[in-house]
Amino acid sequence: MSKGTDYMHDKLIIEVRANEYTMRDRNPHVPWSAEEIARDALACREAGASAFHFHPRLPDGLPDLTYESNQAIMKRIRSTCDILIHPTLGAAAQDSDPHVRIATIVRLTAEGLAPDVAPMDTGSSNADLLDAEGKTFTTEDVVYANSTRTLRVFAETLRELKVKPYLHLWNLVYVRISAALYRQGLLDGPLWAGFCLSGDDAPIHHPNTRAGLDAYLSNLPQDVPFTWAVNAFHGDLLELAPFIIERGGHIAIGIGDHHYADRGFPDNAALVRRVAEIARGLGREIATPDEARQILHLSLRGEKLWQRTQT
Ligand code: ZN
Repeated sequence: MSKGTDYMHDKLIIEVRANEYTMRDRNPHVPWSAEEIARDALACREAGASAFHFHPRLPDGLPDLTYESNQAIMKRIRSTCDILIHPTLGAAAQDSDPHVRIATIVRLTAEGLAPDVAPMDTGSSNADLLDAEGKTFTTEDVVYANSTRTLRVFAETLRELKVKPYLHLWNLVYVRISAALYRQGLLDGPLWAGFCLSGDDAPIHHPNTRAGLDAYLSNLPQDVPFTWAVNAFHGDLLELAPFIIERGGHIAIGIGDHHYADRGFPDNAALVRRVAEIARGLGREIATPDEARQILHLSLRGEKLWQRTQT
């Protein structure tokens, strides 16, 4: 029996990539305010999602990087449902003090609002995008930098907080660095990894094709326990979803990544419903948040927090 067939017995985790820094000019459903984000989380939970990733936004859609905005969103989501919460560390950043970059996660945890998952992008990359015609870079100096020292501080801090790192992997180099961190004892298995693919105007990840995904899958080190999801930035993930689901991967999808114009500008919950349909058609069940916590070996802290807000 192949490894892929074994994994078919695992239920499918559907994570929502709710908004990123996507504007509403193409898809008007992108949630921005705390109320909109929490309502979206509940709708996605009801549609079958077990994890929810969000970026706080100002009323005009610009990034809102304050502690208070994260706190308001987390409180609202925890008071409505048990979905795994996965906030952001902020916008693409030059490599500044890692303790400052992770301070919001530390403070949320200290104040009883620990997220279940927090992102670690285990490498550094150019992050400039091309214009709509795919010819000219719209910026020239966006670099997302995460030094090895930064990654060590993130890994040590998240372990102390009992928050699971979501390893957001932009290319194979990030896979190799994650494996090295695991072998050094800085990360605990199973690693929760997201393989990034992207569309033609975003030459920052592997291409959003089966070959782009195969490049990850055919290079996974055998000694490192990767539990993996796939997302497609500026790309239609539904095209690859059956292949991902059959190979035992999980799905990280949302209108934060792509407007899905060709599919009638759905909202996040509609995308989740479609993924769930595809999975069930292939004989793979959908994981509840509790089941996702078991698959990922998460602390039960988030679940307990949710129960506490219900009393
Ligand atoms: Zn994000």
